Amino acid sequence: MNRRKKIYEGKAKILYEGPEPGTLIQYFKDDATAFNSQKKAVLEGKGVLNNRISEFVMTRLNGIGVQNHFIKRMNLREQLIREVEMIPLEVVCRNIVAGSMAERFGLPEGQALPRSIIEFYFKDDKLGDPLVTEEHITAFNWANTQEIDDMLATTLRVNDYLSGMFGAVGITLVDFKIEYGRLWEGDFARVILADEISPDSCRLWDATTNEKLDKDRFRRDMGGVIESYTEVARRLGIMKDMPRVIEGGVS
Ligand code: UDP
Repeated sequence: MNRRKKIYEGKAKILYEGPEPGTLIQYFKDDATAFNSQKKAVLEGKGVLNNRISEFVMTRLNGIGVQNHFIKRMNLREQLIREVEMIPLEVVCRNIVAGSMAERFGLPEGQALPRSIIEFYFKDDKLGDPLVTEEHITAFNWANTQEIDDMLATTLRVNDYLSGMFGAVGITLVDFKIEYGRLWEGDFARVILADEISPDSCRLWDATTNEKLDKDRFRRDMGGVIESYTEVARRLGIMKDMPRVIEGGVS
């Protein structure tokens, strides 16, 4: 299995060449990093949970017409995806103040925003993923204005849908980060959703208690990371597919 060609290895995932041209295999690792990799750990079972949660979310989004790179889940840790040309941006959508927005503007975490806010960050670990404007994005050719408009519209749609989906199971979608890539069809490129959507890339709070059910538990040394990710999967109704994760027996 590991004789497959590795295309790229990131902090939480590995991409291998896929079985057919234009496809890749996305492997979810148990590695967790935060603060630009200054903090690292291996959280047993995280990759399995994120693979399954991201499959669920991407499949649901596909169902409402939000095109994305997900094709099918192959096994506990791997999914078959479409190969896209990644746009080097992290697109963050926020409904409630938290994390870097609380710090940047001196706002209390938990304050509801008057409307959803979308931010772009340039994906570059060496620079610490700086916040950028649309001017930077077009000037440096990371994306053109049409692509920016497409990303903004899709991100709002994803936010609306996921806020409702999580809301229905008692979870508040505080914020999330998504990434986009170009799917080339001849000379024409369509911008589609890529990467993953999981508790690693979303802030998810219990709607009643505001308990954190996401990666902030790792960032802030709160413990119970796997238990929280498992709870998210359970509420979404997808735990029955992976009983061994609950027992902590997946390696
Ligand atoms: N996020 C992410 N990857 C990153 C940075 C942020 O997935 O490299 C997510 C994070 O989990 C949160 C949202 O994007 O859901 C906003 O993160 P923020 O800018 O507040 O940064 P943080 O406080 O996580 O450093």
